[in-house]
Amino acid sequence: MTKQELIKERRSQDWRTELRKAHPNKERILHERTAISELPIEERITSFHEEVALGYTREEAMAEARRCLDCPTPGCVEGCPVGIHIPSFIKLIEKGEMLQALDIIRETSSLPAVCGRVCPQEKQCESQCIYTVSLKKQAVSIGNLERYVADYERLHRDRSVKPQRSSQPQRGRIAVVGSGPAGLSFATDMAKWGYDVTVYEAESQLGGVLRYGIPEFCLPNSIIEDELEKMRDLGVHFVTDTIVGKTITYEDLKTQGMEGIFIATGVGVANYMGIPGEDLKGVYTASEYLAKYNLMSPEELAAELPSLRGKRVAVIGGGNTAIDAVRTAIRLDSKQAVIVYRRSEEEMPARAEEIKHAREEGTEFLTLHNPVEYLGDESGRVTAMRLQRMELGEPDESGRRRPVAIPGDIITMPIDEVIICIGYSANPLVSNSMPGLEVNKWGNIIVGDDKQTSMSDVYAGGDIVRGAATVILAMGDGRRAATAMHQRLSGRIEEGALV
Ligand code: FAD
Ligand code: SF4
Repeated sequence: MTKQELIKERRSQDWRTELRKAHPNKERILHERTAISELPIEERITSFHEEVALGYTREEAMAEARRCLDCPTPGCVEGCPVGIHIPSFIKLIEKGEMLQALDIIRETSSLPAVCGRVCPQEKQCESQCIYTVSLKKQAVSIGNLERYVADYERLHRDRSVKPQRSSQPQRGRIAVVGSGPAGLSFATDMAKWGYDVTVYEAESQLGGVLRYGIPEFCLPNSIIEDELEKMRDLGVHFVTDTIVGKTITYEDLKTQGMEGIFIATGVGVANYMGIPGEDLKGVYTASEYLAKYNLMSPEELAAELPSLRGKRVAVIGGGNTAIDAVRTAIRLDSKQAVIVYRRSEEEMPARAEEIKHAREEGTEFLTLHNPVEYLGDESGRVTAMRLQRMELGEPDESGRRRPVAIPGDIITMPIDEVIICIGYSANPLVSNSMPGLEVNKWGNIIVGDDKQTSMSDVYAGGDIVRGAATVILAMGDGRRAATAMHQRLSGRIEEGALV
C-alpha cells in the first residue's frame, strides 16, 4: 500500500468520519491556535536547567487537535521530512487516544519527544498546513501536539507498551559510530529486528548534539536519558570514550564480527572566519562554550557563576547554535548578550520560536554587521571587535539575499567574550582511516538513496553525509539506512520500516 493509500484508508475509518461530522470545519476554524505555557521570563533567565516551553495540558492538546480539519490531501504530511501521518495522530488526540497517537508518530519518527521540541515546524509541516496556506491563520500546532503525546507516554509509563525486540532468532553483530539522532534511530530499528547492536561514542556521554549542543532549557537531558533507557531495554550496547578510526579501527570492528557498520559521526569541527584575533583568550567556538555549560550540574554552575557575571558577550551567527549560545550567555548573567549577524533577521536560519525567546530574555540583535577583526590587550585577551557594516544584495544560491560590505563603514565595539557560531565541517578522522570510503570535497561521506557508502558493508547518515542539517533529517537517515542494511543482510523489509 502506498503512503497516499494508507492516509486515505485511515481517514475513511468510521470514527474519523463521525468526528468530522460532529464538528464541521466552519466550527473548527473559529478557534485560535492554543498557546503553550512558558516559564515566566524572570525565572527563565536565572535557570539553565528549567525548560522554557512547558507543553500542553490534556485539555489544551485536545482543543488544539480539534482545530485540525483532517484534510483529504494533507499538506502538513508533505511538509514533514519523514512523512509522519499527521492528521491520523492528531485525530487520535482529539479522540483522547494518546498512546495510539504516539504509535502513529513512531511509525516514522523514533525520537518524538525530541523532534516535538527542536524541529523547525514553522518551516516544515506547519508551513504547509491549510491554515497557513489557504486560511491565512496560525497553523495547527503540530509540534506541540507531537511533544504532548511523547510526554504523555513518559508520564504514563505503566500504560505504555515497551518496544519489543524481534522474536526472530538473534541476527548478526552491527556497529554504529556516533550516538547522535542518526546513530540512535538506526540502532533502535536494528535492535528491534533482532541484531546485536553496539554504539561507539567518542565522548563520555551519549546523545551527540542533543546532549552537548542543545541546552537543557530547550531539551532536558532527562528526555535523552529516557530514549537511551528504551534502547538499553531493547538490548543495544553502548561503548563511550571510544574514537572509531583512532581507539578502534574498521578492521578491529570486522575482526570482532561486525557484519554492518553505520557511520553517524556528525560534523564536529567548528568553522572559523579566518580573521585576525580569533586565537585571543575569550574567543570560543560554540561547541566549546555550549558543551562546557551543558555538562555542568546546577551545583557546579552555581559555584562558577560569580566569576562569569557581568560580561559583554558577542555571538557571531544567526542559526540555532548562535541562539542557543546567546541564551546561555544570558543565563550566565552577562551584562550584554548580542547576536552579530551579517544578513537581516529575516534571513536568520534559527527557529522562529527560539529567536522570539532570545529577544524576550534580553538578547540584542546587531544584524547587517560582520566581524573583520578581534582586538586584544597585552595579556592576549579579547577586548573589542571591529565590525563591517553590510547591506543586502541580490539573492544567492540559497535564495537568501546576499550580504554585501558597505565600503569603509566599520565600527569598533568593546567586548569581553566572543562565541563563533558560523557552522561546522566534517571531521575526517573516520574517512581517513577507511581508504575505501568515498567523500566529497567537504569531507562528507557519499551515499546512495539507501545510505550505502562506497563500501558495501558500511552505511552512513545524518550530518556527516548532509553537512550541518537537522535532527529530523538525521533521524530519518538512520531509519532508512537500517531498512536498507537489514534488507541486504536478510532479504526482508519489516512492517513499520522507513523506506
Ligand atoms: P551528531 O548529533 O553530531 O552526533 C554525532 C556523534 O558522533 C557525536 O556524539 C560525536 O561525538 C560522535 N563521533 C564523532 N566522531 C566519532 C568517532 N570517530 N568515533 C565515535 N564517535 C564519534 N537541529 C534541529 O533540528 N533543531 C534544533 O533546534 C537544533 N539546534 C541545534 C543546536 C546546536 C547547538 C547544534 C550544534 C545543532 C543544532 N541542530 C538542531 C542540528 C542537529 O542537532 C544536528 O543536525 C543533528 O544532531 C545531527 O545528528 P547526527 O546524528 O548526524 O550527529
Ligand atoms: Fe490538519 Fe493542517 Fe494537516 Fe489539514 S494541513 S490535516 S488542518 S494539520
